Amino acid sequence: MNWLIATDLDGTLLDDDYDLVAAAAAVDSQAALGHEIALASSKTFSEMLKLASLCGRPPTLIFENGAGVAWPERLWRKADAGPVRHGFRVQLQGEGYIRLRSVLRALQRSSGARYQGFADMSVAQIAELTGLSTSGAALARERQASEPLRWLDTPEALQRFEQALQQRGYRLVKGGRFHHVMPRTDKACAVSALARRLAEKHAARVRVLCCGDSANDRGMLLGADVAVVFPRPDGSVLALEREASTGASVPAVVLHAATAGADAWTRAVTDALRRCGSAETRAPGGSAHE
Ligand SMILES: [Mg+2]
Repeated sequence: MNWLIATDLDGTLLDDDYDLVAAAAAVDSQAALGHEIALASSKTFSEMLKLASLCGRPPTLIFENGAGVAWPERLWRKADAGPVRHGFRVQLQGEGYIRLRSVLRALQRSSGARYQGFADMSVAQIAELTGLSTSGAALARERQASEPLRWLDTPEALQRFEQALQQRGYRLVKGGRFHHVMPRTDKACAVSALARRLAEKHAARVRVLCCGDSANDRGMLLGADVAVVFPRPDGSVLALEREASTGASVPAVVLHAATAGADAWTRAVTDALRRCGSAETRAPGGSAHE
């Protein structure tokens, strides 16, 4: 194995054309070079399956922003628990969706705060709010470990809600349209777990290249040996600076892709790997997320 390449989907491997065939071909072309691939997204496992099924060699699926990981069979370990779904061993962080929903209902009763989770909405309502197709919205609603919320109350109530969630072992990630309630984990933790598993399997240190465009990719980009940052549709670019809170430093190699989508992704990844071929990279354990 050469590199672990962990990539975000929307705005990174996928552009607005949403060409899953081209994305699968891009993933396959890197896998054929001996790299291990992980797709890391805020999407659900159900939403990610279509792309995974188009890949010749199934990638690891980091879903719901790292709240769950679906391991392909080659990475299973004897002691692993978790159900096997569509050929993947599915493992969740935290106590799962049913428990999360009961916490949210209890909080709503005790605080009187007004909010609506995906479970409280119809598929048609989710489709309208997200711009997804009806079938896409149905897949987005098949949640396993985290819940997007539409906040309908005051910012002060939101602050109290966030504190109450923290006391119960959850975190609130603020997004554009939705707030995501999830266990205390993120994409970076899942990528680190995968890197450790690969290092064990191959008895060798694993170098990590991460691709992403948004705030929810920052952790995994900072934890990587090589970061490839993709521009957002409005032309702005995620800034990667040293994070005082975690002590994470900026990777030795940071590259900027020209645009999102499979072709640009392949060019950027190829370029990054070529450039860093001789660059100094960090040993495992050097990342703040290990
Ligand atoms: Mg993205």
